[in-house]
Amino acid sequence: MKARVFSGVQPSGNLHIGNYLGALAPWVGYQRQFESIFCIVDLHAITVHQPPDELRAKIEETAALFLAAGIDPKHSSIMVQSGVPAHAELAWMLTCVTPVGWLERMTQYKAKAAAQQTIGDGLLQYPVLMAADILLYQAAIVPVGEDQAQHLELTRDIAQRFNSLYGETFVVPQTSLPSVGARVMGLDDPTVKMSKSAPNAGHAVALLDPPDRIRKTIMRATTDSNPAIDFSSLGPGVENLLNIFQAFSAWTNDQMRGHFTGMRYGDLKKQVAEMVVSHLEPFQKRYREITSEPGYVAGVLRKGAERVAPIANATVELVKRRMGLYTESR
Ligand code: ATP
Ligand code: MG
Repeated sequence: MKARVFSGVQPSGNLHIGNYLGALAPWVGYQRQFESIFCIVDLHAITVHQPPDELRAKIEETAALFLAAGIDPKHSSIMVQSGVPAHAELAWMLTCVTPVGWLERMTQYKAKAAAQQTIGDGLLQYPVLMAADILLYQAAIVPVGEDQAQHLELTRDIAQRFNSLYGETFVVPQTSLPSVGARVMGLDDPTVKMSKSAPNAGHAVALLDPPDRIRKTIMRATTDSNPAIDFSSLGPGVENLLNIFQAFSAWTNDQMRGHFTGMRYGDLKKQVAEMVVSHLEPFQKRYREITSEPGYVAGVLRKGAERVAPIANATVELVKRRMGLYTESR
């Protein structure tokens, strides 16, 4: 049996080049070797208020972006989290084995909670639902960006705790981070990671931004007061631009140093902008083709849900039996 890969993206806001380099692009590399499930995690998105009509539209848009990135629905299942009720069911069972202290320590919880006037309980429970998403499919590998590494550690802790309380039940998953592009920083502020939910203009390059806008955002990126690139003392803004270039080009470190040493920041930005545009233009063309066929994306999501639901339901049955919950099968 092929090992299983699972990962997801929240359909909140506009997907950006950080989501592409940290998640979507690495996923494409996995799908031929492994049985892969890629999920639009709408139940995660509602941990922060989402206008319903926008959320509904973003779910299909996110699925179409997965397809445009090269996820092939013949090899992989693309599905929506709320379309498979077992996610929420397992999340409750795992909530009951998770100490609150583990959740209160999460960096993302602290950061997102600080930005809210009222903190919904969902924001605290988020990593348990994420553990349920992964453990439900007995996934062995979870390819994510670096910001999710802490949640993956928690998933492993929850799986191990459950296994030791109730007997071997869950595969304990491995985290997979890309070697370059695992943490793309904000272009306006290179000390914070690029995020869909960041409100400031100039923060991110969205995957569907028109080429002129991409160029403008990159040309305005925050750098530092040095005149040119010096690899022995890179400021965070310049380092981020170089990382973005390297992740899209797949150049080696030697190629990067040979080409960029001593280059003025204005020229660096132009080259980064052209590298990003040359990747996103064909990507956007595929996106337009995919979305121009009425019903296509909805069909992909329906098939994805049909394919994965039996796996998810079998895990919930197993967990119910292990915990002594009511089930007709023994
Ligand atoms: P939000 O602000 O709504 O949380 P986000 O940009 O963090 O949005 P998510 O949907 O939370 O996006 O994450 C989807 C995937 O993209 C995850 O695997 C995450 O690790 C990855 N990712 C998110 N931001 C970055 C980034 N700046 N660099 C690399 N990977 C990222
Ligand atoms: Mg996030």
